[in-house]
Amino acid sequence: EAKAAGKNRFHFHTEVAAREAARQFELEAQLRLAIAREEFELHYQPKLGVDDRAVTAVEALVRWRHPNRGLVMPGEFIALAEDRGLIVAIGRLVIKMACRQIAAWRRQGIEPPCVAINVSAKQFADDVLLADLTAAMTESSVGGGELVVELTETALMADPERATGVLEALRRLGVRIAIDDFGTGYSSLSYLKRFPADEVKIDRSFVDGLPEDPDDLAITQAVIAMAHSLGMKVVAEGVETEAQRSALAAMGCDQMQGYLLGRPMPVEDLVGRLSKAVHGAVAPVLDGPSVH
Ligand code: C2E
Ligand code: MG
Ligand code: MG
Ligand code: MG
Repeated sequence: EAKAAGKNRFHFHTEVAAREAARQFELEAQLRLAIAREEFELHYQPKLGVDDRAVTAVEALVRWRHPNRGLVMPGEFIALAEDRGLIVAIGRLVIKMACRQIAAWRRQGIEPPCVAINVSAKQFADDVLLADLTAAMTESSVGGGELVVELTETALMADPERATGVLEALRRLGVRIAIDDFGTGYSSLSYLKRFPADEVKIDRSFVDGLPEDPDDLAITQAVIAMAHSLGMKVVAEGVETEAQRSALAAMGCDQMQGYLLGRPMPVEDLVGRLSKAVHGAVAPVLDGPSVH
């Protein structure tokens, strides 16, 4: 009896696994088509000063405009794209779209904000990244100073020697470097000192517990102190409450991102906020919860 139940369970599990494999296979095929048809778009989330709430830059976040599923979030396709060797092609489209957006803002008389682009580990490991960046920058007449590349510790630590060289090459292009999701990967402090990064982004999981959780407070404080002593700016991710913002301000954190002051949004929504910077002489201030 127990044996029969075990056998059934086995069948159950293989069926589930087979269905999941079929689903992934279908998604992969659709993703290949999406790349050919360029069915992606970028949403933008502002990075703001913790103290003055002025927009200092925006982060480009990719979405897949699926013909019948609507907008698909990166959590549903980036890992698969990495696994099936499609991330470089998607990343190339993202870089191209970000640079074209900067050029479009300029044509519209809008002072373009600095745009941060997420680069995943496999994409960073591919030598074509620098060529893709240079091509897109040339096509849209974008300077390196208008771009930030966001990389995770994992991407950097896969091959620290090589990573140092690529970061130096990015710097020669004038592109700034941010270490994303900081604290979730494993990187030694000595490597952090070696990587020429400009910005450290404290992962949302630490910001979550602020201002009460003593461990999150201690970690956040330590990351801020360390980054500042190495000459890097600190951005807190996932700031959702005013209490979190003021705790970060008290700790000397430089910038923040989060639902409190700006969700990722389509470019049309962002422009309304940016244009304040052009028409008024003051930096744009985002106040109150934003629309999605
Ligand atoms: P990330 O780079 O750490 O981006 C931050 C994610 O947190 C975004 O999710 C953003 O919408 C979300 N977020 C921002 N503020 C808050 C908040 O206050 N609360 C909460 N709960 N969430 C917040 P999204 O857009 O779904 O992107 C998820 C991840 O997908 C990104 O994490 C990044 O690793 C990856 N990704 C996004 N766009 C690209 C891309 O163009 N290329 C690559 N390779 N990866 C990308
Ligand atoms: Mg990011
Ligand atoms: Mg992040
Ligand atoms: Mg994160």
